[in-house]
Amino acid sequence: MLVIQNLYKQFGSLIAVNDLSLEVNKGETVVLMGPSGCGKSTTIRTINRLVEPDRGSIYFGGIDITALPIDELRAVRKRIGFVFQQFNLIGRLTALENVMLGLVMSGVPRELAQEKAREALRKVGLETHQHHKPGEMSGGQQQRVGIARALAYEPELMLWDEPTASLDPILVREVLVVMEELARYRASTMLVVTHELSFALHVADRIVLMDKGRIVEEGPPDQVFVKPVSRIGQQYKELIE
Ligand code: ATP
Ligand code: MG
Repeated sequence: MLVIQNLYKQFGSLIAVNDLSLEVNKGETVVLMGPSGCGKSTTIRTINRLVEPDRGSIYFGGIDITALPIDELRAVRKRIGFVFQQFNLIGRLTALENVMLGLVMSGVPRELAQEKAREALRKVGLETHQHHKPGEMSGGQQQRVGIARALAYEPELMLWDEPTASLDPILVREVLVVMEELARYRASTMLVVTHELSFALHVADRIVLMDKGRIVEEGPPDQVFVKPVSRIGQQYKELIE
């Protein structure tokens, strides 16, 4: 489904992603972890070209995204959902309108957009909050609206960049529960950057550890967190024990 080959990205003299190759299979949940600054966000952001890579290829369903002209890229982006740390909701719009907005802008008729948006809000447990504005919702609820906005496109691939990082510990759970459900029912293929060890341990099919722009270890959680071969893996193991 997703094949990243020899991805390389440099900012000035700093090498953020160094010759990284990674595959994510259909239905799989892959968790990408590693120390701050190791290149996780840069990697995930190249996938829909929010960051332009210097070198390398990214195949999504057989198409090399890095080679696409902008109009064709737009069509591919619709098949990829992205949830960020910042929710980026529009304050004067309701939850329903926030979820509908992108659909309507991309040409989905209003009525159908509303139907899809309602269904997406239902999936994240917010059907009763559809007429609330972001300011009237908790951080966890706002992030669930952010998730619904991505889900409304019925994306084949969901990219998550620290979706719980700006939430209180108590609100983190409600977002993790939604993510876990999506992962478990294989509703979507997921590539998740997170520091949530329990999610990584219990929900991921595969853990990918990065350090200094490179993958240093990958495997199922019971391998990576139990018998790590890398220094970073050893550090996570000690955190879990
Ligand atoms: P964190 O866990 O803190 O989010 P990360 O693993 O996501 O870290 P990246 O955001 O990918 O790390 O950053 C990798 C490196 O590239 C860092 O040293 C960062 O400072 C640098 N970097 C990222 N984006 C840019 C940019 N737009 N311009 C310059 N440097 C950047
Ligand atoms: Mg990051």
